[in-house]
Amino acid sequence: MQTYKAPLRDMRFVLHELHGDTRLDELPGCADFTPELIDSILEEAGKFAEEVLLPLNASGDEEGCRYENGVVRTPKGYKDAYRTFREGGWPGIACDPEYGGQGLAQSVALPVFEMFNSANMAFSIYALLNNGAYEAIEAHGTEEQKKVYLPKLTEGAWTGTMCLTEPHCGSDLGLLRTKATPADDGTYRISGTKLFISAGEHDLAENIVHLVLARLPDAPSGVKGISMFVVPKFLPTADGAVGQRNGVVCASIEHKMGIKANATAQLVFEDAKGWIIGRPHKGLNAMFTMMNAARLGVGMQGVGIGELAYQSAVAYAKDRIQGRALSGAKDPGKAADPIIVHPDVRRMLLTMRAYNEGCRALGAWVARMLDVARRSPDHERRKEAEEFVELMTPVVKALFTDLAMESANMAVQVYGGHGYVRDHGMEQLVRDGRVLPIYEGANGIQALDLVGRKLPAHAGRSLRRFFHPVAAFIEENRNHPMLGEMVRGYEKAFGALQLATAHIATKGLSDPEEACAAASEYLRLFGLVALGYVWARSAKLAVEKMTTAGSDGFYPAKLQTARFYFERILPQAGSLWFAIKSGKGAMMGFNDAAF
Ligand SMILES: Cc1cc2nc3c(=O)[nH]c(=O)nc-3n(C[C@H](O)[C@H](O)[C@H](O)COP(=O)(O)OP(=O)(O)OC[C@H]3O[C@@H](n4cnc5c(N)ncnc54)[C@H](O)[C@@H]3O)c2cc1C
Repeated sequence: MQTYKAPLRDMRFVLHELHGDTRLDELPGCADFTPELIDSILEEAGKFAEEVLLPLNASGDEEGCRYENGVVRTPKGYKDAYRTFREGGWPGIACDPEYGGQGLAQSVALPVFEMFNSANMAFSIYALLNNGAYEAIEAHGTEEQKKVYLPKLTEGAWTGTMCLTEPHCGSDLGLLRTKATPADDGTYRISGTKLFISAGEHDLAENIVHLVLARLPDAPSGVKGISMFVVPKFLPTADGAVGQRNGVVCASIEHKMGIKANATAQLVFEDAKGWIIGRPHKGLNAMFTMMNAARLGVGMQGVGIGELAYQSAVAYAKDRIQGRALSGAKDPGKAADPIIVHPDVRRMLLTMRAYNEGCRALGAWVARMLDVARRSPDHERRKEAEEFVELMTPVVKALFTDLAMESANMAVQVYGGHGYVRDHGMEQLVRDGRVLPIYEGANGIQALDLVGRKLPAHAGRSLRRFFHPVAAFIEENRNHPMLGEMVRGYEKAFGALQLATAHIATKGLSDPEEACAAASEYLRLFGLVALGYVWARSAKLAVEKMTTAGSDGFYPAKLQTARFYFERILPQAGSLWFAIKSGKGAMMGFNDAAF
């Protein structure tokens, strides 16, 4: 059985203690969001996740979405859950109050979203896409477009999609063929086929707002010739209601390995009426607004899956009895001990825990900086925060989702054969989560983004937004009486990252293939060091709180998990550096004919 309790204690630690130095309620528009209010929002979200979404996770997977003559029906219970979701105001938590939203900072919206994802990833994707569409229209739409679409998306009465992928065009958007022809009335007619569109058709909302990438007749080739259009399933009437059906149909939905309760649609646009968003040929920039926020969201989907995997595995490991503890029977009254006594099972559980808590803490740091980048009145602070977020976005997306898959697989392993069969719901996590490293830019593409764009960005200034706080922390804590050894070990991993960065920067200049050959290992190394930073800071806080605030067991466990991270996970940094510096030869020198 899938076991899940919202990890509110850890969320509070991350939000108020670890990143509490940048107070949310001091940012413009956030004055009301005191720690107490934030906690009550998280509690409510946790309740919704545990009580409404989790019970539908396995049944939704079993039943899946059904496609009948262009209509998609979501599984039993999903419509009611979506109604409750709307009644709770959840679709609009991060939306502007001007459009009916709650104006919540990303720092709070992301943990809320993590909980929804733990409980039911397929359901939560309907909401993730909504946020993306909202943000793109808010940033690039006209006043009229904002008035028509934003209140509806905020309310969840309409849901959004992002339509990039085409049958022949995935990572390489320059290949995109969908056409947009100007009409006499200033609108456009969109024609083409879009593939794999999440939430592309369903029965949860009155209308679906597709944001579509297409080419104008005079568009230059490649990515410089892409524009973005809003193409609603039903044309809005003058008073904002749902009008005539537009020329977009759902030709089918994919039969896929996971997230079966989320409809992944093939959409055919035939002279569909659309409105341009932003400027002609600048659609990719507009779509990037959506994609950056969405990528952080996908990273948190990873944490959601990882947390469900961890909690379920712990519950099973305490219950399942097999073999005896090597140090002597722990439960002599029973025929065997629970498997949680075995070192290898503990290794898996602690790895999942260290991944989840580390990613939650790192994701919260990035979210906090996103809030600063969007809201701070101080231009310099905004710029610094923005550079940091840009740098970390591919790391959050790729690292968190790769680790989520490791966690889901480890959960299956902890359950043994009972994880491989369907009854306990562990294989569902592997199937559901497997899309995370693929969509929103495959993880290999994220790694290229990191080495090709983010490292050299602003003459290396973005990189310094991360390296400087790390170096300062090490300097300050190298001789810490309790954590000195941990910090000195961390310093070695940071040293490996610095060497790898210099290596990639130099080699990449003369041969870009060298940099690209090392990109995935580099992203992992970067990510492990970034997790190391939040773990080191968490450990320091835990030590302080253990002595001053008494202990409810939370801080000692935090410190123990940090220790596990530094002793058993971070040492991988050294081998990653060795792999990186070996260069491209073993890969690119391999004879094509021998594959
Ligand atoms: C369930 C699901 C939901 C989705 N939802 C949406 C959606 O809502 N909207 C949408 O537009 N799309 C959606 N997608 C599509 C998704 O974003 C694409 O699958 C993804 O971008 C990868 O494209 P592709 O599948 O064509 O793979 P390809 O681009 O063919 O890539 C295949 C492999 O080659 C690698 N690769 C490709 N180019 C390079 C390169 N230059 N260097 C190194 N490696 C490279 C990739 O990393 C990948 O491992 C969804 C997909 C799935 C499965």
